[in-house]
Formats: sequence, C-alpha cells, structure tokens
Amino acid sequence: MGDGAQDGRPTNFQKPCLHNYAPLNKMTTPSREWDYAPAPEATDHFRIRGRYDLFIGGRFVEPRSGRYRRTINPANEKVLSRVAEAAEGDVDRAVRAARRAYERIWSRMPARERAKYIYRIARLIQERSRELAVIETMNGGKPIRESRDVDVPLAAAHFFYYAGWADKLKFAVPARGVRPLGVAAQVIPWNFPLLMAAWKLAPALACGNTCVLKPAETTPLTAMHLAQIIQEADLPPGVVNIVTGDGRTGAALARHPSVDKVAFTGSTEVGKLIQRMLAGTGKRLTLELGGKAAHIICDDAPLDQAMEGVIAGIYSNQGHVCCAGSRLFVQEGIYPLVIRKLRDRIRTLRVGDPLDKNTDVGAINSRAQLERIEELVASGVSEGARLYRQPCRLPRKGFWFPPSFFTGVSSTHRIAQEEIFGPVLSIMTFRSPEEAIERANNTPYGLSAGVWTEKGARIFKIASKVRAGVIWANTYNKFDPSSPFGGYKESGFGREGGVAGLLPYLLTTQVDRL
Ligand code: NAD
Repeated sequence: MGDGAQDGRPTNFQKPCLHNYAPLNKMTTPSREWDYAPAPEATDHFRIRGRYDLFIGGRFVEPRSGRYRRTINPANEKVLSRVAEAAEGDVDRAVRAARRAYERIWSRMPARERAKYIYRIARLIQERSRELAVIETMNGGKPIRESRDVDVPLAAAHFFYYAGWADKLKFAVPARGVRPLGVAAQVIPWNFPLLMAAWKLAPALACGNTCVLKPAETTPLTAMHLAQIIQEADLPPGVVNIVTGDGRTGAALARHPSVDKVAFTGSTEVGKLIQRMLAGTGKRLTLELGGKAAHIICDDAPLDQAMEGVIAGIYSNQGHVCCAGSRLFVQEGIYPLVIRKLRDRIRTLRVGDPLDKNTDVGAINSRAQLERIEELVASGVSEGARLYRQPCRLPRKGFWFPPSFFTGVSSTHRIAQEEIFGPVLSIMTFRSPEEAIERANNTPYGLSAGVWTEKGARIFKIASKVRAGVIWANTYNKFDPSSPFGGYKESGFGREGGVAGLLPYLLTTQVDRL
C-alpha cells in the first residue's frame, strides 16, 4: 500500500456521460437517460508498494541519487506510489549488469532453454493478469475492459509467441546465419506500458540479447510488477534490467557506449533526437513513432460496422494510440448519414471511472497531455472547424476530455496534420478513391490506415497506394503477435511483431562465418 490510497477509484464521479449529446452550440437530440449500475473492479487482491526501486542484476536496488518520483492515478490525482529516478550512474550499473549476463550466461545458453524462461514469463503474466490489468488502469487511466481484454492478454501472447521462435531463429532468415546483437536499450511510452514492454523484451530475449528497459515516467507500475514476475520466473540476473526515470534516464541509456542496439517507441520529436545522437556510433536503431492515420469510408461500406471501427479507432484508450484512426475520410454521398450515425453512437459512450467495467472512455493520462489536447482542439476551433462533443459533466478531479469530433476540417488545419493523441476525430470528405489516397498520404506520418468498402478490388487499390505500415480493411485496431507493426516516413522504421520483429535483434551473417 503506497502513501496514496490503494483504492485509487475516483470518489468524485458525477453521472457518467451517456446522455445529452448534441452539437456544442445547438441541442438537436432529446436527452436519453439509461444509467448502468456501477460495476467496479476490485482492488483488494494485490498490493501496490509504497516505493519501487530500480531492477538491476536481478535485484531491486535503490537509486544512487536517492531520488523518487510520485506516480498518480490520473482519474483522481491520488498518489499511488513513489518510483526511483535512475541517474547516469544507475543506467551504467544496469548496462554493465546486462553486458555481464549477455557474455556469461544468456548468449551461451542453448536456445531451447532461453525459450523456457520466456514461456514461464508468459504464464506468470497470465496468472497475475487481474493484478496487472487493474494496476495498468489505475496508473494509466484506461478502461479496465481494455487493460483486461487487450493489453494484458496481448502482452502474454507476445511472450508465448517469441518463446516459440527462440530455438528456430535459423528459419527466420533463410540461407543466412544469425546471432544476437548484445545489449538492447529499450525506451517505451505511457500509452500501452505493459504491452510495449512485452513488444520490446520478448523478441530481444528470444534472439539471445539482454535488455535494459526504461518505462515512461507517468506509467512505471506495471513494468515494476513485470520485474517481480521476471524474478519469480528465475530469469538469470541481469538478463532484464528495468530503470525508471524521465527523458534524461532514456537519453543516458540510449547513448551508453556499451549498448549495441536502441529500440525506441515514443514521439517523433524524441525519435529524431535519438537518431541524431546515435549517428556514427554503429549502434542499431529501431524507431516506432507517432501517427495520424487515415480511416477511409467508401460509399459502399457496411456503415454500422464501419461506425464501430471508427469508434474503436479513435476513442479506445482515450485516443492515446499511435495508430488511432484520427483522420476520418468519408465519401461525399454518405457524409450526412455517417455524421448522424456517429453522433448517435457517440452518445452511448460512457466516460468515467476507468475501473468500472461499463466504462468506454477513461481518464487522460496526465495533465500535460490534457493541456496538449486542449491546445490543439482550441486551434481547430480558431482555424474554423466545427467541434462536436458530449456536453457531459466530467469528474471534478483528474484529467478528462469528452469524446469529440471536428467537421469542416481542411487538410491544412493543425488538427488534420498533428497528432492530438486524445479522443478527438477530424472528419473530411472525398469524392473518388484516387482523391482519398492523395489526401490520406498528405501527412508526414505513415504508421497505419483503415479502409471500409465491400469491393475487394478497391481495398487492394487503396491499400497498395496508401503509404502506411499497417492497413486494416473492414476492421480497425486488430493486433496479433504474429503480425508485424511499424511505420514509414516520420512514423519511424523497423518492425515489431511477427518474424519481422526478430530481425532488429539479430545480426545476420553468411552461414560459414558463424
Ligand atoms: P515521448 O517521446 O515523450 O516519450 C517516450 C519515452 O521516451 C518515455 O519513456 C520518455 O521518458 C523517453 N524520453 C523522453 N525524452 C527522451 C530523450 N531525449 N532520450 C531518450 N528517451 C527519452 O512520447 P510519449 O509522450 O511518452 O508517447 C506518446 C508518443 O508515442 C506518441 O507520439 C505516439 O504516437 C508514440 N507511440 C508510437 C507507437 C508505435 O508503435 N509507433 C506506439 C505507442 C506510442
């Protein structure tokens, strides 16, 4: 139990937002009351510690600086715990531990033995899935339904999947030999804290590398519980090290001379900084950065299903999703119908207590992120776009933004170009598939896209011309560990997931040079 309340559940919730939806300045829809009884997830089956130290060399150790940072529940601003701030010397300790473990143990261990450890971690994640889901929701603000049904099962699935690859690496790269790179430095963001840790650690370990992971400063708690799991799985000391802290810790890790590979997921801005910092060092780098996905609805699309795709695309995880379908392109003939359906559907979204199993949209991850969303939304209004949002009462405490969308958006508006990373959709129209393709590609990003049409030929035409790493057809936001994920352009390079996700952690050689 931390010095904050274990029960991080907001006590100040007013009625959830499930009625009164109307355009901001014009009420056209009668209000509709249909309240759900609260269905809160229990929080008494695990313990959040008052303090979390660094995980280095298989042990929890105090940071040399003695400094700790408070981590809160963004739904009510209560302190959950205090987490160590790793300084340069701590990062050095962690990298040395990883180097020792690489040279003495992990790179020499038969691959089938490595696989057993990774498999054990997957099993332990499953066993502790309730605990991990609740902590993820308390620390990050996302609805418990998502942590429980998406984040945690997918994290376990990644470890299972890559456990299977550990002793089959020679089949990953035909006619070439493969070997690990060495020590991997891995820096991750706050929107999918446990899942991003799994995306990074599982393939790196399967390939025989050792790791130093740096979680995001606002959401370190599930990574620290993963550290407990790693200890419980008896992973040899130093194979995985977890150092918490802010961007300075991340920078110290990325530039450490004994690191062989840097894997970064986060903003394009920081990704570019890291790329500059690593230029000429010979370190391998993969960057998974931001996105501004085009979600295209053609006039022959199954509209009710498409609406569900749009909702999942932009409002899940409060829109804190790199591949969020944040630019909706609607074919002109169906535009009025789509807007009407979207308004009706958005009315039914329940915004509120993230720990309530009925909740669809939880809390914004931090005050800083809320301010960024508000600033971009204000720019959309001042540039002339029209804003619609649930005019619901939001909780007094915590960080909240109601599900919203903009119409009357032009491609030059900031809300059409910049990543809002919140529950805000920018809607535009198109006349022909050619125009949709051109407008979809009018972005510096290239991470993901979606297309809805009943014609297979149109799917292939659009998918082959939209420059994005992942393109979903007649669905959205579907993930599987066997499927590669990654971007083009300013969304980064390198892939995570699938066979492609092994390659950034392997050195390929001619077979006779092994
Ligand atoms: P961020 O770039 O601010 O931070 C990401 C991580 O980098 C954090 O751990 C942070 O502490 C660390 N960091 C900050 N400055 C650093 C520096 N100079 N050197 C090294 N590390 C540093 O991003 P964020 O706000 O945490 O995450 C949101 C961003 O992540 C969005 O742009 C989103 O699109 C992107 N994202 C991308 C993917 C993907 O797979 N492409 C997945 C999730 C999130």
